[in-house]
Amino acid sequence: MADFDLVVIGGGPGGYISAIRASQLGKRVAIIEREKKLGGTCLRVGCIPSKSLLESSHLYEQTSHKLKERGILVDGVQVDLSAMMAHKTKVVDTLAGGVDGLMKKNKIKRFLGHARMTGPGSVAIEGDQPETISAEKILIATGSQPASLPGIELDGNLIGSSTEALKFESIPRHLVVIGAGVIGLEMGTVWRRLGTQVTVLEYLDRILPGMDLEIAAEAQKLFRKQGLDFRLSTKVTGVKTGPAECEVQMEGAEPIRCDRVLMAVGRKPNTEGLGLDQIGVEVDKRGFVKVDDHYQTSTKGIFAIGDVIGGAMLAHKAEEEGVACVEQLYTGYGHVNYDAIPAVVYTDPEIGTVGKTEEQLKEAGIPYRKGTFPFAANARARACGQIDGKVKILAHQKTDRVLGVHIVGAQAGELIAEAVAAIEFGASSEDIARCCHAHPTLAETVKEAALAVDNRTLNL
Ligand code: NAD
Repeated sequence: MADFDLVVIGGGPGGYISAIRASQLGKRVAIIEREKKLGGTCLRVGCIPSKSLLESSHLYEQTSHKLKERGILVDGVQVDLSAMMAHKTKVVDTLAGGVDGLMKKNKIKRFLGHARMTGPGSVAIEGDQPETISAEKILIATGSQPASLPGIELDGNLIGSSTEALKFESIPRHLVVIGAGVIGLEMGTVWRRLGTQVTVLEYLDRILPGMDLEIAAEAQKLFRKQGLDFRLSTKVTGVKTGPAECEVQMEGAEPIRCDRVLMAVGRKPNTEGLGLDQIGVEVDKRGFVKVDDHYQTSTKGIFAIGDVIGGAMLAHKAEEEGVACVEQLYTGYGHVNYDAIPAVVYTDPEIGTVGKTEEQLKEAGIPYRKGTFPFAANARARACGQIDGKVKILAHQKTDRVLGVHIVGAQAGELIAEAVAAIEFGASSEDIARCCHAHPTLAETVKEAALAVDNRTLNL
């Protein structure tokens, strides 16, 4: 008998959640992670530390510039960057300890080291205590790492990824961000709030590619007002570094000098050293592990989920896939509704989206009706002084089924949960419109946008 029913490679949200679900289903499970802390990119150097810094920098900005109009006078506001970073580290450590606790509670055996598959059902763990374990099934959940541009090497100092931008030891004077995607906007926002001049260079003629264009354009206007300097349709060709300065070169524009560069042009799958070739696991042209509808790779008994298989690189997408994969394996049924996976950008205001964008509906020739509602017409948003943004709901023209919901505005990341539930339950816009929403809440913007689909908003 194999040592374990399931060995999970990778201790990020995709991996550890899969391990817990398999354990709940009565399986003998092991998890292999090469970092001491479990939690993966999301917990150690991604979602969680960035949210800590976003919240801290937001409080600083509010205290410095927004409290006065509320009649709260605060003198001598300053940033203590090392205390801010210490808070971030504490949050990460506490949560990582929590994941350790979850492994113990669920009787999941944890191995520390780099996993290499050496044959079907056989995994070598390379590290301080090398050993080989056997498993009935293996789940690859190794995630992704920052990508760069050809000819530009991330030196981990002047030219860094989000990992470095989460731990700068001093506040940069001028940060050039390459890529106006999620990481560029979130990290650009953190450092802008703390006093850095931030220039965002984007290859396309828009920010946040893939998101609903109307919402992205509205967000761009707001971020520009806050001080982010966007240079769109700009192709970065190289970065020269001196002892303490960089020069970013672009096609058809004067180079920009700055003291830090954040490379945020996407991420690539973590597959090196896994032994994929050796056991016949195929990858696609971009290096993502190929899987079938059941997350099985080209090798029987080996499965993969999360960033390493491509698609939206989101912790919660990886978790959904992990649970579905494990449930399919051990209960015969498991499913991910990719139309109901939300995406959130944690700027201020936040952006929350789910389902089809207007561009996707047009391209697919799906007839739709659209309802929008501005936060400026919402009482709670007024009271909170957060009047920027709007909710946009797209519903099928004939059936009224909700196809997409896109929000830029206060608490969009929380508000989108209602839209996810609506899409998951196959709701119509009329269904949302007829749900009673507490007054005064920001959630009323969602109800009003649903009413707007049928041209009958009540407060506009
Ligand atoms: P991204 O794919 O979101 O954005 C990369 C941007 O870089 C794109 O706009 C692209 O057009 C641009 N770009 C590419 N080449 C360029 C060039 N030569 N010059 C200028 N711009 C160029 O990638 P990201 O922001 O690095 O994020 C990586 C992944 O992590 C994404 O999949 C993202 O969804 C995920 N992530 C999610 C969250 C969240 O959910 N809040 C937070 C951080 C990261």
